[in-house]
Amino acid sequence: MTTTPLLQTMDDQELIKTTLYFSQKERYYTKILLDHLMEIEDRRIHLKLGYESLFAYCTRELSYSEAEALTRIGAMRLLRKIPEAAEKIAQGQLTLTNASLLQGHLRRQEASLPEKKENSKEEELQLLAKCSNTSARKCKEMLEEIEQKARGEEEEDRTVTITLKVKQSVLKKIQEVKKERGVKSEAELIELLCKEELKREKKKQEKASEKETVLPPATTKRCFPEKMRKELLKRAGHQCCYISPLTGRRCEGTSELQADHVYPAAWGGETSIENGRMLCRGHNQLLARECFGDHKVDAKKT
Ligand SMILES: [Zn+2]
Repeated sequence: MTTTPLLQTMDDQELIKTTLYFSQKERYYTKILLDHLMEIEDRRIHLKLGYESLFAYCTRELSYSEAEALTRIGAMRLLRKIPEAAEKIAQGQLTLTNASLLQGHLRRQEASLPEKKENSKEEELQLLAKCSNTSARKCKEMLEEIEQKARGEEEEDRTVTITLKVKQSVLKKIQEVKKERGVKSEAELIELLCKEELKREKKKQEKASEKETVLPPATTKRCFPEKMRKELLKRAGHQCCYISPLTGRRCEGTSELQADHVYPAAWGGETSIENGRMLCRGHNQLLARECFGDHKVDAKKT
């Protein structure tokens, strides 16, 4: 006995038809939902509602299980990168699980091979096609295989051919430096100069970090000294202090809390307990954006 009484009056053919109809609708609405999540993230509404992350919003506000939330967020982020995936999800060719697996693969690829050029549009579409119309197990195996291959290639230290277009005057200089350094080829010269440059850069960084450690932690007036930070943390009950003006909900974020000036230091706000509060990363950024604008916060990040 179903909870939709009308179903019992349907014949088999009709039932098959309506089941197909609703499964197609479900996928269509899933795609629309991902678009909504993307817009929520773009407008940072989850933060404004008092959630420390989109994941917290999905599990607590939308009542998704942790796994459901992760899959939907993963799939949504894939749509940001490969918008063509949206249609495949709506058509039922790409499952949310496979979309999320592909997103994870692309993210790992970017993180582990920062020097590698990004996938071309064509490569992205090929990957998308490979992840479509296949089971989660096969999709996972295929992506793992690609990652293993990439790791292998990286280790091999392959040689590549590069073509340089330089002015005659630059070529002269290259030949002079080659003679001076006693190297035979341009390739050797580039390798030598790069090694020297990296060594110089490393030394520079080491010197800079030495300086940093010599400085007492609170020399900048804008920084909360450790003692004050601990006091603020205690006062906050080790929890983000952001309270949503929309819902009155206090953020439940407890990790990576940052000490923040209630009245911004940039505007002359004091570094004091009275003018301090603890915020999670998401809310610290949200409030900075509200005070200084997206432009300044994004410029600072890069
Ligand atoms: Zn927070």
